[in-house]
Amino acid sequence: MNIEAIIGELEKLAISSRELDTGEADRTEMIHQVAVYANQFISGLNKVNAFRQNAVGDLSINNDKYPLHQLLLQYQKEVAETGINAASPKHLGYIPGGGVFAAALADFIVAVTNPFSGAYFASPGAAAMENEVVNWLKRIFSFPDSAVGCLNSGGSVSTLIALTAARDKHQIKNDQITSSVVYLSEQVHHSTQKALRIIGLEDVIIRYIPLDSQHRIISKKLNEIIEKDEAAGLRPFLVVATAGTTDTGAVDPLNDIADVAAQHKLWFHVDAAYGGFFILTSKKNLFKGIERADSLIIDPHKGLFLPYGVGAVLVKDSDAVLHSHYYTANYMQDGHNEELLKSPANLSPELTKHFRGLRVWLPLKFYGITPFLSCLEEKLILVKYFRYKLDELGFYTGPEPDLSVSYFWYPFPTDTDRQNRQLMDEIHKDGSVFLSSSVIDGRFVIRMAILAFRTKKETIDEAVEMIARCLKKVQQ
Ligand SMILES: *Cc1c(COP(=O)(O)O)cnc(C)c1O
Repeated sequence: MNIEAIIGELEKLAISSRELDTGEADRTEMIHQVAVYANQFISGLNKVNAFRQNAVGDLSINNDKYPLHQLLLQYQKEVAETGINAASPKHLGYIPGGGVFAAALADFIVAVTNPFSGAYFASPGAAAMENEVVNWLKRIFSFPDSAVGCLNSGGSVSTLIALTAARDKHQIKNDQITSSVVYLSEQVHHSTQKALRIIGLEDVIIRYIPLDSQHRIISKKLNEIIEKDEAAGLRPFLVVATAGTTDTGAVDPLNDIADVAAQHKLWFHVDAAYGGFFILTSKKNLFKGIERADSLIIDPHKGLFLPYGVGAVLVKDSDAVLHSHYYTANYMQDGHNEELLKSPANLSPELTKHFRGLRVWLPLKFYGITPFLSCLEEKLILVKYFRYKLDELGFYTGPEPDLSVSYFWYPFPTDTDRQNRQLMDEIHKDGSVFLSSSVIDGRFVIRMAILAFRTKKETIDEAVEMIARCLKKVQQ
């Protein structure tokens, strides 16, 4: 190609390639359309069902162009109106979240400005903002300033980072794997076992510690089992406690477990993905000992009501985290060593990544912290209210929960499990409020998980009415 040909080709291509850089008038119109859509969606939340069993239509991609308003309609029908409406106040299944509005705007701004938050050198402000969020979390859980942490997609990736640090600190590799022991609760979230598999520890020995009637680890039993394993020449190295179990909302006795872990020199990991932020409420005492953890995970996309896609991990031993995650390369040489711990990429598997700092930082600064705390406190009381109302209807409820997850079942005189399962099916068919089920102590139960920030007393009243309606159908 001669220079004229190059210039000619560039001019030709620019006609089409420029289309990606939307002009100002079009941007204004597009933002307007999205704003109208978002407002309608949010204003309508109370009126629409929390669960829809609609089939998903054609979403395939071709080379045709469609106007934005048409694509928004398609999004509404195929995505927003299928499955669980996780923005709804009436989502009371699994672990709800919500998605506070200021966080949505933060994501919009992040996507427009697109800072590279993996490396301090590339965007010192973005890295600093993420680190300030981590600092705030360290203060909440009384972790030392020297602890490190990062924001990532959620609890599962946070667990992966924490357990990798535990593995590296204890140098669990090669022939040591099959004689190394991990101590878990039956109620541990499955992301823990999944992380062990991913990080090459599939073949460690896993001991499940007996639980008390509130589904909490019995620390005395933990100690006995560790002693037995030590006597047998095995290598106990990790204990995982949960601050807010997914199924039962229980907080393990963290301080007692910390004692046992310290005595036997185990890595003490706390999964506070769901429950962690309740440390800021009247339930603070339940969290005593969490500050003694070697690592901790917490999900702002649960207990801070942020949109899905933000979890956090804190680890005290920075070297243990750097061991697997810090890596340098020729093309990274412009960064500086003193920025090592300020760059999220050195503490996580991610390099180029979503800048998640703003979606946490902006809502906390915009609303202030108090409304978040009120919301959490409110959820604790809503569970009590829900349990009281179910009791009035003749349901049996599980033990008084530590936090905002509980469960219930109806004492049908025959085929109890089968009929409760049928009740669950009726509730899903109705769909106005969404609840999920589990099996606890061998019994089929229906769970209530109250954590969506929009859930209020009226929501629970609607849920109780719906459950009564579905119960009648099963009893017919
Ligand atoms: C939700 C949850 C996880 C997993 O977190 P994700 O954000 O879904 O990846 C881990 N532990 C507990 C206790 C949870 O509730």
